Amino acid sequence: MKIGFIGLGNMGGPMAANLAAAGHAVTGFDLAAPMPEGVTKAASAAEAATGADVVITMLPNGRILRAVAAEIIPAMAPGAVFCDCSTVDVDSARAVAADAEVAGLGAVDAPVSGGVGGATAGTLTFMAGGSDAAFAKVAPLFEIMGQKAVHCGPSGNGQAAKICNNMILGVTMIATCEAFALADKLGLDRQKMYDVVSTSSGYSWTMNAYTPAPGIGAKSPADNDYKPGFAADLMLKDLRLSQQAAEAADADTPMGLAAMQLYETFVEHEDGAGRDFSAMLPRFEKRGRS
Ligand code: NAD
Repeated sequence: MKIGFIGLGNMGGPMAANLAAAGHAVTGFDLAAPMPEGVTKAASAAEAATGADVVITMLPNGRILRAVAAEIIPAMAPGAVFCDCSTVDVDSARAVAADAEVAGLGAVDAPVSGGVGGATAGTLTFMAGGSDAAFAKVAPLFEIMGQKAVHCGPSGNGQAAKICNNMILGVTMIATCEAFALADKLGLDRQKMYDVVSTSSGYSWTMNAYTPAPGIGAKSPADNDYKPGFAADLMLKDLRLSQQAAEAADADTPMGLAAMQLYETFVEHEDGAGRDFSAMLPRFEKRGRS
């Protein structure tokens, strides 16, 4: 397949490299990032999109996605598929898909879970929204870049699944960290706490697979001085997206709101910026109730 790939940063770079290594002809464009191995450099996003069967974008946010989409949709051939893998707001995903479909293109929103490690290893999970035909065309590419792709329904549903998942992730990370900090104050050994909770009804991905306490449970960024991993800044971005979606859809998400406010304080007024999102634990360790 001829693939255009726009946005070759921490995630897009290794994803594009995996597509090229699998034998696809990949033409890339990025404002700043270097071309990954095997990817041909284009002079603009429109040039990368011209003549491609599939164009993949992996960009920072919905505003940038809309700007790039306005540039590349007119350059794409009818029948080609526009596949956005960035994490963006549901409204931007649906607006871009509608513009693509008016131009005779297929459209898929397919945000990912799995981080830079998953992008490099080709083990991402894709959650996709779009028509059956458009999904079928990009599914073989998801198999190269990832290990699982779930077709979640029409356009925007991939982003909906992503922000619901990450709202649960943010809330459970906070709950896990505050419980460890409470256990400390109660004189309960952290290893004992882990041994109980990881096999009891408090178990979760954050406790069992991404344990936020150094030296306890799963190997995680806590064992590397809380270097990301998944940065608190990105968690905040995703929690803002889930609150924005909840407001637009008139959904009541009080725990999501509390998690967003706590990550906002942590990132913007404390020392959370640039640290892993599990660094909530040292934050709670330092604090009393006030
Ligand atoms: P990044 O900042 O490393 O990469 C984004 C790239 O887009 C940069 O290289 C930047 O130069 C480029 N870019 C910006 N504007 C552009 C434009 N107009 N034209 C061409 N290129 C442009 O970010 P990332 O970590 O690769 O994340 C990308 C997306 O993936 C985000 O939406 C993020 O939320 C999502 N995501 C990230 C992770 C993660 O762990 N990093 C995990 C899952 C999802």
